[in-house]
Amino acid sequence: PGDQLPHDPTKKTIVVLGSGWAAISMLKSLDTQEYNVVVISPRNYFLFTPLLPSVPVGTIDPRSIIQPTRYITRHKARRVLVYEGEALAVDPNAKSVTFQDTSPIRGEGGPSTIEYDYLVYAVGAETQTFGIPGAKENSCFLKELWDAEQLRSKTMDCIESAAFPGQRDEEVNRLLHMVVVGGGPTGIELAGELHDFVVDDLRKWYPELAEKVRITLIEALPNVLPMFSKQLITYTEQTFKQNNIDILTKTMVKEIKPKSVVVQDPTGAKVEIPFGLLVWAGVRNTLRPITKDLMAKLGQAQTNRRGLTVDDNMVLAGSNGSIYSFGDCTATSYAPTAQVAAQQGTYVGKLFNQMAQLAKLEAELAQLKKEKADLNEIDVVNKKIVKASKMKPFQYSHQGSLAYIGSDKAIADLPFLNGNFSSGGVATFLFWRSAYMSNLFSLRNRCLVLIDWAKVAIFGRDVSRD
Ligand code: FAD
Ligand code: NAD
Repeated sequence: PGDQLPHDPTKKTIVVLGSGWAAISMLKSLDTQEYNVVVISPRNYFLFTPLLPSVPVGTIDPRSIIQPTRYITRHKARRVLVYEGEALAVDPNAKSVTFQDTSPIRGEGGPSTIEYDYLVYAVGAETQTFGIPGAKENSCFLKELWDAEQLRSKTMDCIESAAFPGQRDEEVNRLLHMVVVGGGPTGIELAGELHDFVVDDLRKWYPELAEKVRITLIEALPNVLPMFSKQLITYTEQTFKQNNIDILTKTMVKEIKPKSVVVQDPTGAKVEIPFGLLVWAGVRNTLRPITKDLMAKLGQAQTNRRGLTVDDNMVLAGSNGSIYSFGDCTATSYAPTAQVAAQQGTYVGKLFNQMAQLAKLEAELAQLKKEKADLNEIDVVNKKIVKASKMKPFQYSHQGSLAYIGSDKAIADLPFLNGNFSSGGVATFLFWRSAYMSNLFSLRNRCLVLIDWAKVAIFGRDVSRD
């Protein structure tokens, strides 16, 4: 039927770049009856990043925390076009995006260009390595699903290689040394998961090796988890000590070699630490090349090197109201978190709904004037227009911070009665699980994650290598 066709020339076209927290939250709240909507992303799914640190050790199956974009868009009132492709360039003057299928199998399609009335620019960011020599080549990352899968394979490779006959003791110790760089929540959660894997599973299947596994967390600042309260930082550090995870604070990574990491310790001395596996755990974000290119095209309106400058309505500075941007690619007063990106996305979706409403009222007013309608009737519509024209600025509501720290313990800093409520331990772990359960994207994801947790509780984690 005609109204199901994706392109309706009477409606404005929104092109959405990305399928992460920002873009998908926007899509969820957008009324697609009012616009032609096209989603372009190199990833044809949404990834629930808060549970990503559970994937490398097999607590969670990778497929359990993703939701294909088409599963999300098919529930919308009007069809949404989804293209798996990477945006190569945005032309803010021509209001167009050039994109390409960059997957290994491309068929014969070359780059394609699409015009937009509004662009939703939500491409996130890349992991920052600060130009540290060897960081890109010799470490694993933990940002995307494929990073977690690669990390899982490498972890098991180190263990199997350590179990291979004829290895020198020194080599076994190197292979079994797991280093996590970055004491932000990603690094802490990953170190906690690695510890659980060693204690719950490796001790059972590799008893002769498990005792030799060492986990070290390296952090440049004086303490880990700067976004959590002092009490929870101390609690985490104590828990790590009990779990034999070494935390090296005030220690700066200077170079990463294939088998060792060079650090500057708190005395300023350079020390070389051998490792089997090194994870560069989410050490800040840096802009994607396409974002830098867009900033250059917008000239003086975009000079913040941290990210895109937007106003209180998420309108990109210099875009004349045609580009909306939010999430990790922007530089705002908020932290680059899923919580912020999701709330901004929901806000922008509602903003588009309001703009469509406004356009309808303006058309109604024009029609009434044309028909020389009753002045009272015109006045009523005018008042509605004034109300619909007021675009409230975005306001962030912080729901708190949660992190898993290993051995069935979690920490939580929650806003409570104008103050803060901090808690850590096993009860918080149960709260952490229930909070993530309710935040997961769909019933399907909830069931899959519950099954994964049950499988691990009954059978333990799978130690086979992909
Ligand atoms: P992303 O989610 O990164 O999405 C960007 C999207 O753009 C992706 O779909 C990508 O494929 C697509 N894209 C990239 N390039 C292009 C291109 N050229 N053209 C088109 N599309 C493109 N935050 C929390 O609040 N709580 C947590 O517990 C938490 N845990 C985390 C755990 C980990 C391991 C990590 C890495 C992050 C975690 N975060 C957490 C942070 C959170 O994931 C990010 O802040 C959030 O993903 C940002 O959302 P975004 O949509 O801006 O970017
Ligand atoms: P992060 O930026 O928060 O932490 C990275 C850490 O690496 C920093 O503490 C930094 O001091 C350290 N570092 C940087 N360079 C270093 C060097 N050369 N040597 C040693 N240490 C170095 O990164 P993240 O943990 O991935 O978090 C990214 C964002 O996602 C944050 O906003 C965070 O709040 C959010 N997040 C939240 C959760 C949660 O709430 N559970 C989980 C993961 C991520």
